[in-house]
Formats: sequence, C-alpha cells, structure tokens
Amino acid sequence: MNVARVASRAQLGLSAPRVEVEVHLGSGLPQFSIVGLPATAVKESKDRVRAALANCGFEWPAGRVTVNLSPADLPKEGCRYDLPIALGILLASEQVKFSAELLACYEFYGELGLAGELKPIRGVLLAAAHAARESRRIVVPTDNHSEARIAECSAAHASSLLAVCHLFTAHGGEVGTAAVLADSAPLPHATPLELADVRGQAAPKRALLVAAAGGHSLLLVGPPGTGKTMLAQRLPDLLPPLEGAEALDVAAIASVSGRGFDARDYGRRPFRAPHHSASANAIIGGGPQVRPGEVSLAHRGVLFLDELPEFDRRVLESLREPLESGVVSIARAALQVEYPARFQLIAAMNPCPCGYLGDVAGRCRCAPRQIARYRARISGPLLDRIDLRVEVPAVPSDELLGAGLALPDELTTARAAECVRVARALQMQRAAKLNADLTPAELREVCRLDRHCRLLLGRARSRLELSARGMHRVLRVARTIADLDAGQARPNGIETRHLGEALQLRRVCTTQG
Ligand SMILES: [Zn+2]
Repeated sequence: MNVARVASRAQLGLSAPRVEVEVHLGSGLPQFSIVGLPATAVKESKDRVRAALANCGFEWPAGRVTVNLSPADLPKEGCRYDLPIALGILLASEQVKFSAELLACYEFYGELGLAGELKPIRGVLLAAAHAARESRRIVVPTDNHSEARIAECSAAHASSLLAVCHLFTAHGGEVGTAAVLADSAPLPHATPLELADVRGQAAPKRALLVAAAGGHSLLLVGPPGTGKTMLAQRLPDLLPPLEGAEALDVAAIASVSGRGFDARDYGRRPFRAPHHSASANAIIGGGPQVRPGEVSLAHRGVLFLDELPEFDRRVLESLREPLESGVVSIARAALQVEYPARFQLIAAMNPCPCGYLGDVAGRCRCAPRQIARYRARISGPLLDRIDLRVEVPAVPSDELLGAGLALPDELTTARAAECVRVARALQMQRAAKLNADLTPAELREVCRLDRHCRLLLGRARSRLELSARGMHRVLRVARTIADLDAGQARPNGIETRHLGEALQLRRVCTTQG
C-alpha cells in the first residue's frame, strides 16, 4: 500500500464538515508537499510532523510524500491535522498496520509536539458532537478528553503519537482503552452567587427578577460602588440551567473560541463582561481565524456592558443586529460564517461623567452640557432596544449597617430562581417563547388591556414620548410582571398595576439632562 486515508473534521462556524487526509507515497526526488492547507499552516505542520516521526523512532519515507486534505476549498487550520497526517504517512509506508474496518470508524485530532507528544486543539467538542451524530468514534489528545466526553461521543484519548499507534495495534487491533463515555460522572459545578449579598437595592433587584423572568434587557444607572456589577453577575444564577442541545451549543462556542472550554462550566449560563476598550472584532467576532466574539460567547447567557457610554460607538451600533436576530454573520474573503448570539444584554452606566450626579454631599461638578453629551453617546436606537431601565442609588448607611442580617422577606437567589422558573413555564405554555421575543401580533393576543389599562397607556405614551417599538417593549414587560403575579391575573389579561410597574421600569430617561 502506498496510499492511506485518515478521517478528521474541519471547523466552520458551528459546523464541523468531514475532511479526508489522503497520503500518497511516490517514487522520485525526496519531497514533502501538503495541499489543501493555507501556506503558513503547511510549513508549520510539515516541520512538526517530520520532527515527531523522527523523535518517535520512525523512518521518513524515501521519495515523494504528498498529503491532500479534501475537500480543498474548506478553510482549515493546520494544527489539528498533524495527527492524521502523521498516521497517514505511517500507514502508507506500512510502518504501522491498523485494521481497515477499525480505521474506517475513527476520526483523528491533535497537534503534534516535536517529540511526538499530542497537544490539545480548539473545537474538539464541536467535532465530537458531529462525530457522535454520525455514530463515528474519535481519537483526541488526552487534554481534550473531558470536552469529547460532554458530547457523549465514543472517544479514545492518547498523550502521544506512539500511544495512538499502540491503541490501534495492541490487543489484536482492538482499541483497548477506548471508552464509551455516556456514563460520565457528574462534573462539579460552581456555587450560585447569592442575590441577598447585595444589600438594599430592592427596586433594582425587582428589575433583575423581571429581566430574568421574561428574558428582557436591562440598563442599570447609578454612581460607582452601588452594586451594579454584583447585580448583573447574579443574573445567570436566576436563569434555569441549560440542557441538551442548548448546553452543547454554548460549550461548542467556548470550545472553538480562543478561550477554550472548561468542563465544569457545562450547563451553566455564560456571563461575559468585556471591557469598554474592546474592539468590534472582540465583541462581534472575526479576525483572521473567524473566532466567535463576546456576543456569541454570551449565547444563552448574559452580556454585561459596564460603563456603556465609554464603549466605541461603532461597537454599540454593531450590537443591534445580534440583538434583533440572535445571530452574527462574519465575512472573511469569500467565506461567510454565522455564530449564534442570543444573549441577554445588561448594561450599566453612571448618571454623569464623574458618577455622582444627585449625590446628597454634592460631589458632582459636571456641567449640564457635559452630562448631556455623556448620555447622548448611547444612541437612541440602542437605548430603544433596552426593555428595562432602573436607578441603582447609593445605599443609605443604615441599610449597609444591616449587612449580614438576612431579612425574612429578602429576595434570595433560590427564591428568585423559583419565581423565574414558574413565570417562564407560563410563557412557554402560552407562546412557546419568552415574552421578550413576542412579536407585535402575538402581543395583541396575549396582552388583553381593559379600559383602565388603555387609558393609562395612552397617557404614558405622550408623557414618555414612547415610540411604537417602545410601546411594545412596555407591553412585553407588563406581560412578564403579570406572569410573575402567577394565578392572580386572567390568563392573557394585564392589570393596571402590572402596566404601571412596567412603565415605571422604563422611566429612567438617560437622553435628557
Ligand atoms: Zn458628575
């Protein structure tokens, strides 16, 4: 045999198409060529494979070595193909022998170190999930094994090229240590953050509960040090844990990002808090490797933007697409990659540039013009997409003194999560979606307003200068508040107190000084 074929997969957004690594040994002048990889990746991969084979005691084949990665038009990163390329050379030169049936069931992934050790690669979870769907098995570097386990893929792992050869040649060709890993032990989870640890702030906590229950976006406005960040950090633990395909998607995004994936985070809602100096590529995704950005890393979880007016205006504008559609499209050359980005936006800002506007000690020295300019940095269209706005004031010292004494009616994480669970179950039963995602037509159906509500809404509309979009947002929030009031309201009815609270939660107006 002077030809060998070894299977692997590429990564394209959140898909993992099959790639066949074909090695051909020919006569003629010694030459090693790889086709189907970008030029720089070819050079690096060649050097690693050659060194690894030599250092593992194998011989480099005489004559011409041609490696073809097909299909050729798929974009490929080099590292993950090191192992299949090395195995292909060993098989084609008959330095190792694997049974043909066994080889046909397996896919191989791994970067080779110069001494033949296998190094982890990005995106194993995604490849494993696709392999599992097609009932195929995989071999991965040992450091990637926990990722492959999560995808419930039949995965063998190895720490070196020699160990892979041993797996496939020992035990009469059986993959002796390959484990079927659907019975994986439960992974330890981080403990939830406690809402009661944020002292006082009853109104912002209530707003956070409403946001969690209906999937609404939220803006927190207040001076520094009042707990805005602490509140935002607690949102993921108020949301129901991720399951099934949703959990797998979130883990796969982390796995293909530069950040990598920690198995302990599996099923946990992500919380991402990029700094305001972050670039549009970092937030939306892109760059030379078309990596997912923060909006995708926050998929099914929370994107927290602290100091919202400090973000680059173009970055804020680019948030509008994922906020509306739940996906981002990244274009590179002739290639278009889509990543899901259905996140819940929580933003925070100071009331003025110095942060102390309204402070009783009179610390704020900002001129009205400066304040107006600061607030105008957030565009109207973005602000219009934020359902809830609430002030997070400085906490009076007597409330701080009560720290440590849990009040009997205090909203705890466990209690809030239970309210959220019940309210979300109502929404799923009613419309199979969260209130934040209701269309205007659906809203008319599920927000039946009586005469008092219509009067209230009409008055508020002119007073708050609500756009049509703004009106819909108020109604969605009112629907959620009524759902939190479970059992009290008529099934699709809204009462004036629900509508009144929803209007209150939109009042904090940040565009006027
Ligand atoms: Zn100020």
